[in-house]
Amino acid sequence: MKLLQWLILLSPWGVAGAELGKFWHISDLHLDPNYTISKDPLQVCPSAGSQPVPNAGLWGDYLCDSPWALVNSSVYAMREIEPKPDFILWTGDDTPHVPNERLGEAAVLAIVDRLTNLIREVFPDTKVYAALGNHDFHPKNQFPAESNNIYNQVAGMWRSWLSNESFALFKGGAFYSEKLPGPGKAGRVVVLNTNLYYSSNEQTAGMADPGQQFRWLGDVLSNASRDGEMVYIIGHVPPGFFEKTQDKAWFRESFNEAYLKLVQEHHRVIAGQFFGHHHTDSFRMFYDNAGAPISVMFLTPGVTPWKTTLPGVDNGANNPGIRLFEYDQATLNLQDTVTYFLNLSQANAQKIPHWEQEYRLTEAYQVQDASTSSMHTVLTRIASEPHILQRYYIYNSVSYDHSTCSNICRTEHVCAMQQVAFDTYATCLHGLGAKLVPGFLLVLTLLPSLLVLVVL
Ligand SMILES: [Zn+2]
Ligand SMILES: [Zn+2]
Repeated sequence: MKLLQWLILLSPWGVAGAELGKFWHISDLHLDPNYTISKDPLQVCPSAGSQPVPNAGLWGDYLCDSPWALVNSSVYAMREIEPKPDFILWTGDDTPHVPNERLGEAAVLAIVDRLTNLIREVFPDTKVYAALGNHDFHPKNQFPAESNNIYNQVAGMWRSWLSNESFALFKGGAFYSEKLPGPGKAGRVVVLNTNLYYSSNEQTAGMADPGQQFRWLGDVLSNASRDGEMVYIIGHVPPGFFEKTQDKAWFRESFNEAYLKLVQEHHRVIAGQFFGHHHTDSFRMFYDNAGAPISVMFLTPGVTPWKTTLPGVDNGANNPGIRLFEYDQATLNLQDTVTYFLNLSQANAQKIPHWEQEYRLTEAYQVQDASTSSMHTVLTRIASEPHILQRYYIYNSVSYDHSTCSNICRTEHVCAMQQVAFDTYATCLHGLGAKLVPGFLLVLTLLPSLLVLVVL
């Protein structure tokens, strides 16, 4: 009798809410439709700008955005690895890094449409929650806080993934929320248009709440709390700071504060946050005023290998990555992440795109799950154990950059992961730098002003 009781307890049916579900998160595909394997290094891809691209490969190049072959291969790899996900999160940036004059509205829409069709063709029966990235507009970054032709056109392309209410909302501001598919799941996905908060967006400068998205988000989260729902929040441009340099925030400060305030107020119903834009693999922790971890935001790596031209970033390319999440279908608690990648130089050398598992979160960092408290433990380990920092650093570029993460590198990454607010980030950057390497204190103090000088 005792044995039977134990068996019931241990079986998956005996544990309430232990049904494991899976979903994909992909981001930053950045198709460069003009990528060609030209013998002329200056003719390979417009996304490399004036940089020569010698020995361009079939599946792409670290100086270029994705050729169609790479985009195609990434989506088919998803189907090969997990053909029946519960849903897909797709957080935008579909077009190449080229000047506005080389794209135009029609070209941007054509690329969004091409990627939409590919994902729908490969996953015809899967619900997709899609967000626009800052590159999915013309002129890039300039997202208006009201209805326009691009929002209308994209709403049409994504019609089959949107409820009637979401369809109308999207046309007004490119944000919406949807219930998760399937019976008995008390869950919701909120898709934000955080391009409205991007400091490069001149359309929303000076506004307190562009598109009234913050007010809407507060209402959605309050309603979720009332209805007993848990929520995943997704978007493209994340709050906080870029971890591969110093003092590089994306949101305007007031928007960053407003977002943080909402997370602090409603964290009990937020089961996870999923963003892109960095092209790197990292995460952000949110804490309450007493310093307790309350939420985690996963930054999924990009499919494009494109080496960033952002000032202050050294060797900022990555291998193409895609990510599978495992979660509890009843509670939306995140159980694990599995990141898959394409070793681009190897794929080009072998002429075969072999997507393989890069790492499983719980194994790599020896934690129980991907919950907020486990991610806080992961961050503590990254900050205090040199070999874990180095492991994280290699995953950060999707196993592209194997160089050693120095003390300054450690400070940049740890402060970005730990502090999403402007003031606490600045304190961390200087404070942690001082604690780690007293000799570097002066350099760290001077660095932001030196960087400003370079940018200006
Ligand atoms: Zn991007
Ligand atoms: Zn972006």
